[in-house]
Amino acid sequence: MITKISENLYRITLPMPFRLRHVHAYALTDGPDVALFDTGMHMTGAYERLEKDLQSIGRLVQNVTDIYLTHVHTDHCGMTGIIQEKSNARLYLSEAANLVHEHFQQGDSLIEQAEKFYSRQGVPARDVTAIIEEIEDMRSRIEPFAATDFLYDGEVRSFGSRLFEAVFTPGHADGHVCFFFRDEGLLLAGDHILPYIPPSLSPNIYDESFQPLASYLESLAAIERLPVASIHPGHGISFDGAQERIGEIRGYHAAKKELLLQMIDEGPKTAFGITGEILGAGSVKNLSHFCFSNPTIR
Ligand SMILES: [Zn+2]
Repeated sequence: MITKISENLYRITLPMPFRLRHVHAYALTDGPDVALFDTGMHMTGAYERLEKDLQSIGRLVQNVTDIYLTHVHTDHCGMTGIIQEKSNARLYLSEAANLVHEHFQQGDSLIEQAEKFYSRQGVPARDVTAIIEEIEDMRSRIEPFAATDFLYDGEVRSFGSRLFEAVFTPGHADGHVCFFFRDEGLLLAGDHILPYIPPSLSPNIYDESFQPLASYLESLAAIERLPVASIHPGHGISFDGAQERIGEIRGYHAAKKELLLQMIDEGPKTAFGITGEILGAGSVKNLSHFCFSNPTIR
């Protein structure tokens, strides 16, 4: 499905096999040329869907000259390599996101590191195996791609007559970037701010000192400082009211932090143990009113 969201800017909804069932890529046109923001998941029917949707606005995959990635998660970057092969498109992402991709390419050392990291968090061997299987599955869904150059925080890029800024927003994923079209106050948010759920946060398995929540909250502040009029996320509806939504997500994390502090007050626990308590004891229900919002649909 393709939906026009602004002059020469379209949302393309592509299939995804799990959870939210769909992911959005965004296409900006300039004459025959297309810049894609994210590329969707590499799965049956996704490439054909992208092809059809581009055809419906008179473009081909071969017309894609530039690709910008918000982050290196399978559902956002999976088809990048395939599109590059067809169109020779230039590719831009943050250096940190590119490093995630490089780690993904290094199968054995990635698995070894993941085993070490999750075992240290108290995850039982059987569940570590399940995590490794999931990582292997994700690896198989990302076609290798090659970056043209790296984005820098706050830098202004152009495509045709349109200008947009790269806003670094790590937290949901290492190296996550949002794209801000200041003339319209329009934010392509990737998975940084979602309408229905607080985005999951990712640890850095190579750096245990990395604090995903602190990093995420700082990244919310980076968006709060911008005059955002509308948010166009990687999943779900586009919506107004960035400040309200950010307030809800902050509220969710504050409540969750309170809960965590109570839990570790009882005695030392592993990250895995705490996760089990939150998910198993119904505590998650107490947080659910922070998860769901009713943003103004655009
Ligand atoms: Zn993601």
